[in-house]
Amino acid sequence: MAMRYFKNAAIRGKEIKKKAKEPWHKNKEPWYKKKEVWYIDGLPYECTRCGQCCKGKGYIWVAYEEVLGMAEHLEVSPEAFIQQYTHRARGRRSLVQTPKGDCVFLSHDSTGQSQCKVYPVCPAQCWSWPFWPANLFDRHCWDDAAKECPGIGKGEMHDCAEIRRMRAASPTRRHRRVQRPGQR
Ligand code: SF4
Ligand code: SF4
Repeated sequence: MAMRYFKNAAIRGKEIKKKAKEPWHKNKEPWYKKKEVWYIDGLPYECTRCGQCCKGKGYIWVAYEEVLGMAEHLEVSPEAFIQQYTHRARGRRSLVQTPKGDCVFLSHDSTGQSQCKVYPVCPAQCWSWPFWPANLFDRHCWDDAAKECPGIGKGEMHDCAEIRRMRAASPTRRHRRVQRPGQR
């Protein structure tokens, strides 16, 4: 009995040593590739143009390339755009807001729906909404964001690849509970 135990232990020992010599990734997917995100099946979202996310205290971060695009769209020089429509905050540039907290480019059409004066070239922070890291942290955060954005959970389905692309493009911080509509 004892002999059989030692024989089995020796076989097991050899197997363990053999495995240890194999590259760790042989026939295995790394753990970070296996990990599935909770929105793997996609998420529904379609803007209702309520304008809620363009209002409120906070920041609308703009990169220099975005400034160039918006300046061209408005047919002003980049310098004039920077001076008139942006301000410095926390070491970055943000779009100016009205005293009420509305984005300087927010307007409304005759039916009361919101309009963005720089829509075709709006900053990544705007077009990546609501697929921001903070909103995608978990289902709870997504549901939280839906309380303030009526477009979340409705309309067109966005697949996981598209969501990931927008999430990566968002200049907002990754911490949960950072920015919500009206807190830019
Ligand atoms: S809050 Fe949502 S539905 Fe309203 S304008 Fe912004 S993205 Fe569209
Ligand atoms: S740039 Fe346009 S989309 Fe972005 S906050 Fe201002 S009005 Fe809204």
